[in-house]
Amino acid sequence: MAGITWHYVLKFIITGDPAVGKSSLLVQLTDHEFLKTPEPTLGVEFGSKLIELPEQEKVIKLQCWDTAGSEKFRSITRSYYCGAAGCLLVYDVTNRASFLNARSWLADVRKFADPHLTCILVGNKVDLCEDGQNHKRRQVPTEEGQLWAKEEGMLFVEASAKSGRNVDWAFEEASRDILDKIKRGV
Ligand code: GDP
Repeated sequence: MAGITWHYVLKFIITGDPAVGKSSLLVQLTDHEFLKTPEPTLGVEFGSKLIELPEQEKVIKLQCWDTAGSEKFRSITRSYYCGAAGCLLVYDVTNRASFLNARSWLADVRKFADPHLTCILVGNKVDLCEDGQNHKRRQVPTEEGQLWAKEEGMLFVEASAKSGRNVDWAFEEASRDILDKIKRGV
């Protein structure tokens, strides 16, 4: 791959309820750090990163748009769906309402984004319910997330923007799926 900066540029959107950790996932992806008190996203934020998919021998430039989850910005958010190849639909595993509301975010994605877009459902904040007493904080069982993702044709992962667990993987897995679709001419 000498001399090649990247083979594909893929646009991603990150969507879901306010405070589920969308901005934190983006910061973890681009800078590998966790900000304890991130600024609330006003409208849309942008981050870019190169990732390598060795199996496909491809380098991908990810262009990620972190959208604001509040109703106030919903119409701005929608305009960013255009041209996206991938979407991270995020909920918080300790907040059931954010999982239920993911249905309406998915409806928006289906309505305003490309029908072939690859969507990965991300149950964020698993660090809050990993061990001991903490498992009681979990409000969405893993299997429930998995099942809904399967029904809707989405990929699925549980992640933590705090520890970094599965954050890169989520983007890589979605990118692999997108490349696969490109290869199949979808
Ligand atoms: P956004 O509104 O969806 O962009 O959410 P933010 O990224 O602003 O995060 C909202 C709050 O949740 C902040 O206080 C973050 O520090 C916290 N947070 C985000 N991701 C995680 C995570 O994976 N684990 C934990 N424990 N807290 C998180």
